[in-house]
Amino acid sequence: MFPFPDLLEDCKDELTEVQSVYGQMDAAYNRAADAHGFHCSGCADNCCLTRFFHHTLLEYLYLMKGFYGLDRELQDQIVRQAVRVNRMVDSAVTSGEISRVMCPLNNGGLCVLYDFRPMICRLHGIAHEFRHPSGKIISGQGCAAFETQCDATSGIVLYRTPFYREMAVLERRIREKTGIREKLKMTVAQMLTADQEGLS
Ligand code: SF4
Repeated sequence: MFPFPDLLEDCKDELTEVQSVYGQMDAAYNRAADAHGFHCSGCADNCCLTRFFHHTLLEYLYLMKGFYGLDRELQDQIVRQAVRVNRMVDSAVTSGEISRVMCPLNNGGLCVLYDFRPMICRLHGIAHEFRHPSGKIISGQGCAAFETQCDATSGIVLYRTPFYREMAVLERRIREKTGIREKLKMTVAQMLTADQEGLS
């Protein structure tokens, strides 16, 4: 779908910068989680089972940067699993069910590309707020485990606005640099298989 080696080289400055933004996100998440006493481990409502869509070329490129750093055998295993995941998700969606299929990067409960995972994998779970470009403040709940374990009325929220802004700036830069205008709406499994749906 995209010429990754060239794109990764062309966008290397932005990919270095997103690493820093992701680091800030992780730190903010940990501060909010600690303030709530919320610790995410082994819950049945595992967010790696959720069919999250990702929308930025920035996140896609950073994930693929991590993917291409894996050894070839592991890459092939992950792609084959991602093809199976796509089929299971499609089947669930066609049947009108809510898809609960494990992300192909989750291996035994651990994310194979943890350092390269997309934004929502870093922010999901804690009650949050952000300022919409219209100026309106939007509030969002935490995950089911958070809502059960924590006091959602405590006023402690993860404020996402600075991260959304920094991601938007970097996304704009790589869109200008690469000339890619195509809108993205992809799961991790779809990202990993965009060129390889023929594998089984
Ligand atoms: S990318 Fe990693 S953290 Fe995100 S859903 Fe997949 S396994 Fe989970």
